Amino acid sequence: MKVAVLPEADNRNGWLETLPPLPPPLRTAGSIHVDYAVVGGGFTGLAAARRLAELDPQASVALIDAGRIGNNSAGRNSGFAIDQAHNIRARNFAGSLDTERQQISLNRAGQDYLRDIVTRHGIDCDWREEGKIHGAATGRGQALIRTYSGNLDLLGASYRWIEAPEMKAITGTDFYVQGLHTPGTIQVQPAAMVTGMAQSMPENVTVYEDSPVRSVAYGSVTHLESTNGEISASKLLLTNNGFAPQFGFYPNSLIPIATWASMSRKLTPDEIRALGGCDAWGIIPADPFGSTVRRTVDDRILVRNIYSYAGRLNCEEAMRLRARTTHKRSFANRFPMLPEVDLEYTWGGPLALSRNGQPVFGALAEGVYGSFCHNGVGVARGTICGKLLAELVVGHESELLAYMQAAGRPDRLPVKPFLGWGIACNFAYRRYRAGREL
Ligand SMILES: Cc1cc2nc3c(=O)[nH]c(=O)nc-3n(C[C@H](O)[C@H](O)[C@H](O)COP(=O)(O)OP(=O)(O)OC[C@H]3O[C@@H](n4cnc5c(N)ncnc54)[C@H](O)[C@@H]3O)c2cc1C
Repeated sequence: MKVAVLPEADNRNGWLETLPPLPPPLRTAGSIHVDYAVVGGGFTGLAAARRLAELDPQASVALIDAGRIGNNSAGRNSGFAIDQAHNIRARNFAGSLDTERQQISLNRAGQDYLRDIVTRHGIDCDWREEGKIHGAATGRGQALIRTYSGNLDLLGASYRWIEAPEMKAITGTDFYVQGLHTPGTIQVQPAAMVTGMAQSMPENVTVYEDSPVRSVAYGSVTHLESTNGEISASKLLLTNNGFAPQFGFYPNSLIPIATWASMSRKLTPDEIRALGGCDAWGIIPADPFGSTVRRTVDDRILVRNIYSYAGRLNCEEAMRLRARTTHKRSFANRFPMLPEVDLEYTWGGPLALSRNGQPVFGALAEGVYGSFCHNGVGVARGTICGKLLAELVVGHESELLAYMQAAGRPDRLPVKPFLGWGIACNFAYRRYRAGREL
């Protein structure tokens, strides 16, 4: 079958653009056979390819990506490897405590695998085990984080309240009226992390980039056709998130979304003094439709907000420009002391959500496996799911793997035009309700 829609990525990802240039890519060429082909080099594919190689060191593994690893959503995100979801449902939460505990165990196992890789290979990715602060700018935001703290109490999880003066001492701005700190989240430079992970693969993994898979033929051996080469594989692992339905699986179940970030230019010494606060920090919004904000270790400020329905799967320029306008406003509201600081980069990244919040994980057909749809928090979750998928393929068993296999699967969606309109209206309403939290 032909793969109708391929990923497209611009060169506006601030995380990647502020790193030294990448080495030239190795592209697929000619005809090769491998034991395992992994399509998609985000967190899920990077973990799956590595784990396959660890468990089956004699096997050949090809990790194939349409673009450059680091310029995909894995390298474009806000860099929070989250242990506890920041959007725990307010109602009926007590009824799902066990589920929440399992989710946290999964995320922590993902963090452990990432930590192990980063430490073992000395990957320089600004790894900071500092937790996350949920920042509230309004009374409504405060009510949301109070509800969240009640849920943390039910879980027996630790947290700390941060009042307005301390929020200012951390961030330099008096925009936030209160914060809630949870300790288990790790902050990273995502493009540095995933490029480091790709460049430190075990010897039996070959990483192909700029090599979109354009067609696939299933059978006892799967044949993949890329731009200049063909790969046949005894087993195929699909880890290409929202693009996986292009390979024939779950065609009407994933909601294609894009979210957007902007990064300022480097602050000057005078601007750093005018801002004040700590050298680096990260704020998660109290309202899920509010703004994530980070001060990076290289003295830039990142703002992320806006979810857009991405019916064509890729990020569109008109959406990017609209998001940039909102980012400028969010920046100005928070940092009136930095009126001259412009946003040097604005970029988007595609994601996949499901209506019922469930992922795809496991065997999809004979010799074909998949893990995708991490519902917007794929740094830790994609990593653990990729690792567990590799373990499933080679026949390992574990409690976490059993949990993932038993998890629900995405519901079917309403037909396309209604879906797009419905989501656009829902997002517009939630953005409006977020008010100053945006
Ligand atoms: C701005 C932004 C901020 C975010 N912030 C956070 C955050 O702070 N914390 C968090 O946990 N998550 C965050 N996310 C979400 C997170 O980035 C994703 O959940 C994560 O990247 C999913 O990982 P993945 O490996 O499943 O998919 P991806 O990272 O999307 O990787 C899929 C890969 O498949 C490849 N592919 C697709 N089709 C083909 C094909 N035909 N041939 C070859 N390759 C193909 C793509 O090129 C891509 O590299 C954010 C996302 C964005 C965009």
